Amino acid sequence: MIDSPLFYQTGPALPEVSHADGVMLWDTQGKDYLDGCSGAISCNLGHGRQDIRDAMLAQMDKVAFTYRTQFESAPAVALGHRLVELFNDELGKVFFISSGSEAVESAIKLARQYFFALGKPQRQRFVSLRPSYHGSTMGALGMTGYQPLEAPFTSMTHASIKVPGPDFYRHQDDNDDAHVDRVLAETREAMEAAGPESLIGFVLEPIGGASTGARLLGKRYLQGIRALCDEFGCLLIADEVLTGIGRTGTWFACQHYDVVPDILVTAKGLGAGYYPIGAMLARNHIVEAVMASGGFQHGHTYAGNPLACATGLAVIEAIARENLLENTRQRGAQLEAGLRKLAERYDWVGHVRGAGLLWGVELVADGESRQPFPAEQNRFAQITALAKQEGLLIYPRRTLDGIAGDHFLVCPPLTIQAHEVDTLLERLERAMAGFDQTLTTPPPS
Ligand code: PMP
Repeated sequence: MIDSPLFYQTGPALPEVSHADGVMLWDTQGKDYLDGCSGAISCNLGHGRQDIRDAMLAQMDKVAFTYRTQFESAPAVALGHRLVELFNDELGKVFFISSGSEAVESAIKLARQYFFALGKPQRQRFVSLRPSYHGSTMGALGMTGYQPLEAPFTSMTHASIKVPGPDFYRHQDDNDDAHVDRVLAETREAMEAAGPESLIGFVLEPIGGASTGARLLGKRYLQGIRALCDEFGCLLIADEVLTGIGRTGTWFACQHYDVVPDILVTAKGLGAGYYPIGAMLARNHIVEAVMASGGFQHGHTYAGNPLACATGLAVIEAIARENLLENTRQRGAQLEAGLRKLAERYDWVGHVRGAGLLWGVELVADGESRQPFPAEQNRFAQITALAKQEGLLIYPRRTLDGIAGDHFLVCPPLTIQAHEVDTLLERLERAMAGFDQTLTTPPPS
């Protein structure tokens, strides 16, 4: 065990990583781990890619860093164009940042500045979902609907108006369409109560990530929110930090639903774990209004540096060249079938949901009533630890009172091959069998 001054988490000491290749990682004791969650849903091309390394080294040999207000750089401009193309030119302007939280902060500030530029400074509030996760910086935390993270800071953040999204697992309505219509009607009421002329925008993850366990919102809902934003004259902001750049089998999750947001942010998969980079895409008229009013009052030192952009460009080229969106859909279907088969075996697997290579598995104390496990039992941590023992990394989240049960994400690199999905499922099967056994013994205190 290493004596470490780092304080990232409570819980048992971590193994020390040695090296990684493809979907596998090894620790210094020689144990191997299949990366079933792409690190933090970020290492979308797997580990140790020579092509990304070569692109990064080639850029470093030319110039690693220039400041965005001093020079244009070929990789930044090329990556900007590439991102605009991926969204069919409808979002024509691009701003780079280095992380998902910075991306969400940027969207908050661009949207606010847009209404300021239009002479509508009374538009000051956002609407977002509970549960949701939009980042850990104070602005992004204000959009986040996840009580354990919000609690110490609620008096310090500029909190959005939180509304529930559709819940296709627990709703009591006659059918899914009726459920969505009711949720939309209640959302409309909340927006009307806040005063539509006070709203800047609606921030949402088109397919949920870690906070919701890949909860789907669906086309009817997303198109309904698009229509509400249009009616109330506010902006739709899609947080695709986790779902962007191919994770769900299309370049962006919005594209499953024929919904075009006004601002879209993405990050994790753009640098694919090789270099931190995020991007904000926005409609031309929004950016033009802001720039005409004196410019975007925002920026981060590392934003859009040549090395970051050369990395992002190499990542996008690799996804296109290797047809990884198709691989994501095919291996996603294989993974889904395997997860559903495992789910049938255990009453405590409440719900399996997702798209592409983003799958959430929700655990419940009682399959009939869909009652979550008591929070203090930390079931999410138990199953994650058991999976790790079996050599499988999955991404855990604790239960949220009255909203969702403990869950974990299975979201391997988009490069995963069929036999590796089999290995992932075998390791998960052993972890789930172990978890099933713990349910017959008293939970840890
Ligand atoms: N938005 C979403 C949807 C995310 O999943 C995350 C990261 N989990 C963030 C924002 C924040 O990104 P970062 O950790 O890179 O700041």
